[in-house]
Amino acid sequence: MKYSRVKGTRDILPHESYKWLYIGDKIREFALLNNFSYIKTPAFEVTELFVRGIGNETDIVSKEMYTFLDKSKTSITLKPEMTAPVIRAYIQNNLEQMSAVMRVYYIDALFRQEKPQKGRLRQFHQYGFEIIGTPYPEADAEIIVLSYTILKSLGLDDLSVKINSIGNRRTRKAYLELLRENIAPCKNDLCPTCQTRFSRNVLRIFDCKNQKCQELLDEHAPRIIDHISDEDKEHFSLVLKLLDIAGVSYQIDHKLVRGLDYYTRTTFEITSPLLGSQDALCGGGRYDYLVEDLGGKPTPAVGVAGGIERLLIALEEAGKIPVTDSNLVYIVSIGEKAREYGFRLSWELRDQNIPCEFDTLRRSPKAQMRDAGRKKAKYVVIVGEDELKRNKVILRDMSKSYQEEIGLNLLIPTLKQKISSV
Ligand code: AMP
Repeated sequence: MKYSRVKGTRDILPHESYKWLYIGDKIREFALLNNFSYIKTPAFEVTELFVRGIGNETDIVSKEMYTFLDKSKTSITLKPEMTAPVIRAYIQNNLEQMSAVMRVYYIDALFRQEKPQKGRLRQFHQYGFEIIGTPYPEADAEIIVLSYTILKSLGLDDLSVKINSIGNRRTRKAYLELLRENIAPCKNDLCPTCQTRFSRNVLRIFDCKNQKCQELLDEHAPRIIDHISDEDKEHFSLVLKLLDIAGVSYQIDHKLVRGLDYYTRTTFEITSPLLGSQDALCGGGRYDYLVEDLGGKPTPAVGVAGGIERLLIALEEAGKIPVTDSNLVYIVSIGEKAREYGFRLSWELRDQNIPCEFDTLRRSPKAQMRDAGRKKAKYVVIVGEDELKRNKVILRDMSKSYQEEIGLNLLIPTLKQKISSV
């Protein structure tokens, strides 16, 4: 019996994993540069956390969660997003006492039972940044500029930053009534899901991918921005001003509400034409009520999440994944005595931080050379019994197909010099 991976999941295989590590390294580099600390939360949480946090009528909660009863009959959900778990951890561990503003980042696996397609998986990975504890537009702008800078520095051009403000809950209520009134006459033309959304959570109609629903919104929906408070308008214009200062251009997208109930004020998304229909590389916004909704003290916050699989697709399309250039040294040994010596030598090289592989299949010298070529070793050290008697080995430069005999005492200094001068 052979087993296959579950639909919508992927293996990250040894020959491609370097791309993932490359992206992870970049995210960590930027996290360090902007002073965000790493946070990791469990793979699953109690279901209620997501129902409360994300909202009952959102696609994620109503259709996409992997939810099950564990043996003690507790309803558990594999995390479909990271903000609610991060905020749960923030409240539970009293992180507000550690710093007035908490800056955290994550790289993690998430789970949503969506229809798999290019750029949409059931287990996928996100990186994200959250600034918890400040209501000011500088934090919104920092998150947006950081998100943009990461994508730019990875080599992506043609990025579109779309931004909107959806105000606060007080003004939202009046806006939702107005929206419902405006859409009511054409309610029957909405798709069946949006007809349900119309009565249960009308704002979610904006999330619909159906062309007809979008056209109806274009025609009938009042713009949220015209119905937010003066303070929210001022906040929004300051965010835009800071983006101008940072030199990040943007388009205001009046329909950008993003599919989670917790957003307030700023919402944004960065898209790339390299992605096809699932074109959002990352998205986020402000969520000033989530901490209190989840049982903490009222605490404003803002954040972003980006999809690593989508980022990989875009980088591959753009030809921006660097080819790995390893400094691998492969030790080829000929004969039993040489094998023992080669084994010891491999550890001496590693002790000196020289990456090294030593054949563990007892292959013929020819097969070892072939393996070294396949692994793209930069240098091969050939340990033969005759040379050993003279305290020598052969050092072969694989890129130049050139080799020379070298004294054992000179091997490590020579390799170190060659590797550091690359
Ligand atoms: P969201 O948490 O829905 O705001 O999504 C943030 C980012 O995560 C998106 O812009 C995508 O890049 C990525 N993403 C969301 N859902 C999926 C999925 N099912 N498969 C792959 N990437 C996803």
